[in-house]
Amino acid sequence: PPLRLPVQLSERSYEVVIGEGLLARAGALLAPVLPARRVAIVTDETVGPLHLPALRQGLAEAGFAIAAECTVPPGEASKQLPVVQRLLEEMLGAGVDRRTAILALGGGVVGDLAGFAAAIALRGLPFVQLPTTLLAQVDSSVGGKTGVNLPLGKNLVGAFHQPRIVLADTGTLATLPVRELRAGYAEVAKHGLLSGEALWHWCEAEGEALVGGDPAALAHAVLESCRLKAAVVAADEREESPEGGRALLNLGHTFGHALEAECGYGGELLHGEAVAVGLGLAAALSARLGECSQELPGRVISHLAACGLPARLRDLGREFSAAALLGRMRKDKKARDGALRFVLLRGPGEAFTAGDVSPALVEALLRDEG
Ligand code: NAD
Ligand code: ZN
Repeated sequence: PPLRLPVQLSERSYEVVIGEGLLARAGALLAPVLPARRVAIVTDETVGPLHLPALRQGLAEAGFAIAAECTVPPGEASKQLPVVQRLLEEMLGAGVDRRTAILALGGGVVGDLAGFAAAIALRGLPFVQLPTTLLAQVDSSVGGKTGVNLPLGKNLVGAFHQPRIVLADTGTLATLPVRELRAGYAEVAKHGLLSGEALWHWCEAEGEALVGGDPAALAHAVLESCRLKAAVVAADEREESPEGGRALLNLGHTFGHALEAECGYGGELLHGEAVAVGLGLAAALSARLGECSQELPGRVISHLAACGLPARLRDLGREFSAAALLGRMRKDKKARDGALRFVLLRGPGEAFTAGDVSPALVEALLRDEG
């Protein structure tokens, strides 16, 4: 039987259902939580051919009608307003109405894009996440953040729009390129470090099996990641807490976003790879500040490396200017008045936000690591 995890929010609660073969049973799982047996599906050109047939079958078995199937090119470039407009015109032109649910079948790009279209079409349509990347199953499909990029920066336009249900079909991960699987694992390791000794030790023991595709390890990681994310999101639904709450999910991300921005978003560096290096740097910074044990950075770095991820700046095979990275971090969406904000660790399960880290110290760390 699939695993079920409740996400309890003030307005409406929903479930994350985790298991193999859920797409082929989608109709039966969706019918109780949707207003009508009518949907529009958004997917990308890579995921559609692989996983739409199972979804179509699962919907047909429960008597669902598919009003529209919309396909976007794969990749971050599809997360832009012109694509939202095209989707809205396709869906509304095909007769999508207030009782039609929008189904996002794909990774975080499709989830963010389709979720945003669902949030604004007819002022809000029911929405379902069918995540097919590890990153989307452990992170982006839970929490209700949707949106697109502007040429000016990532995720600058969006809305909170919670799904009616999330079906994480772990069977879909079998077709995911291993590099994408590893990148998604970086967020699992992040959740391990945020959650505490139990999940972090589980990561150290099972992470390598997971990136090798072990189904039981994948299902456990999705469950525990969603459990952590659901708890954090429930306590801070709209990211209003500046220090605790959702802000802690940015562990490794101040460094990671700066690295991604320096590399451009063309696939040279995947988000999860940037996060992996960011986790190593966040642990190293925490140790330099005397916040955590001197052993923690080494443990984090050697674990991520064992899972096939870059974990140190020098693993990225190119040079970064410490000054340029520092400049990026000062302009991070989450920075305030140019002050550097980092999520730091006292140990697994003991993360906190530091809003006043010395730039000189960070620059020295980046120089030594680069
Ligand atoms: P993605 O959606 O681009 O998917 C990565 C690649 O894998 C794509 O080429 C896709 O076509 C392919 N793919 C997806 N599933 C597949 C499968 N089962 N088999 C084979 N190929 C498959 O990237 P992602 O890493 O899933 O998501 C990244 C996006 O998520 C970013 O835009 C990021 O901003 C967003 N994000 C959002 C949140 C949130 O809370 N909303 C959180 C984290 C990240
Ligand atoms: Zn992330």
